[in-house]
Amino acid sequence: PQLANQIAAGEVVERPASVIKELVENSLDAGSTQIDIDLEQGGCKLIRIRDNGCGINKDELALALARHATSKISTLDDLDAIISLGFRGEALASISSVSRLTLTSRTAEQSEAWQVYAEGRDMKPTIKPAAHPIGSTVEVLDLFYNTPARRRFLKTEKTEFMHIEEFVRRIALSRPDVSFNLQHNGKLVKQYRASELEKRVELVCGRVFMQKAVKLDWQHDDLVIQGWVTSSENSELQYFYVNGRVIKDKLLNHALRQAYNSRTHEQQSYVVFLQIDPKQVDVNVHPAKHEVRFHEARLVHDFVYQAIVMALESNQQ
Ligand code: ADP
Ligand code: MG
Repeated sequence: PQLANQIAAGEVVERPASVIKELVENSLDAGSTQIDIDLEQGGCKLIRIRDNGCGINKDELALALARHATSKISTLDDLDAIISLGFRGEALASISSVSRLTLTSRTAEQSEAWQVYAEGRDMKPTIKPAAHPIGSTVEVLDLFYNTPARRRFLKTEKTEFMHIEEFVRRIALSRPDVSFNLQHNGKLVKQYRASELEKRVELVCGRVFMQKAVKLDWQHDDLVIQGWVTSSENSELQYFYVNGRVIKDKLLNHALRQAYNSRTHEQQSYVVFLQIDPKQVDVNVHPAKHEVRFHEARLVHDFVYQAIVMALESNQQ
C-alpha cells in the first residue's frame, strides 16, 4: 500500500501548494469558518493548517490517514452530484507517505483532543491525547524528505510561496464567508476576514480592478452568474468558478472575447462565479480537479455571453 500511496502522491502532491490545497479543502469540507495557514520555507520545511471545523472522532483518526478512506461518498450515485471538494479519500494517505504528518483533532462530543502521527514508510500511526480546541490541525514536516527525486523538483522558496499565495487568492475568492490567515516564516502576510463577496473580491483583486470592472449578475432557469470583468493589458486576474470550484475552461474566455467583440490583443481580467445544476457538469475529469465538462456547453456559453453583453450595455448607459 505504501507504494500505491506514493504513486497516488505523484498525482495529488506535486509541491507545497498542492498539499495546502488538499488540506484547506478538507477544512472547508469540515465546515470551518476560520482557517490558519502557517508555513516555513515556502512550505518545504513546514505546512500547518489549523481549522475550527467539525473535527474527527478518535476512532476515525488513524483511518483518515488510510488510502480510500473517505467519509464523503457512501453510494455510487453520490459521484454524479459531488458537492464536497474532496472525494477520493487519498489526500491524507498520499501526503503522509511523503512527509512527517501529524493530525490533531477534537470533535464537539469529545472533551479532549487526539493526535496521530505518520511518517513516510512507517504507516502504523500512533495515537495519543493532545490539547486542541474543536477542529483540526494538520502539520506536514519535511515534504518529500524520503523522495529525493521529487524534492529536487521543488523550486526556490520564493517560487513555492508564490504558488501558495496564488492558491490562497483563489480559495479566498470562492469562500468570502470564511476567514483565512496566511503566515510565512513567522510573519502574517495575508489576512482575509469573513465578509461579503464584493468586499472579498476587492481585498483580493485590488481597488483598481473593482473600479474598472463591470458587474455581472444574472439568472436564467438553473443558471446563475455573478462576477466582475474588465478588459486590461494585464490578464493575471482570471478566476472562473463553477459551483465554487475554480476551473480552467475556454468557455468563459470565448464568451468574453465575443462579447467584447475583441480587437486582437485585448485581454480580459475577471472574477466570475457560475452556478449550475451539478448534474449538468462532470467534475471528475482530472485528479487536480481543475477541469469540468458541461453537458450542454453551447447553452452555458450563450448564457454567459448574454450576461456579459447585458452588463456591458447597462454600463454604457
Ligand atoms: P477525502 O477528502 O477525499 O475524503 P482525505 O484523505 O483528504 O480524503 O481525508 C480523509 C478523511 O479525513 C475525510 O473524508 C474526512 O473525513 C477526514 N478529514 C480530513 N481532514 C479533515 C479536517 N480538517 N476536518 C475534519 N475531517 C477531516
Ligand atoms: Mg480531501
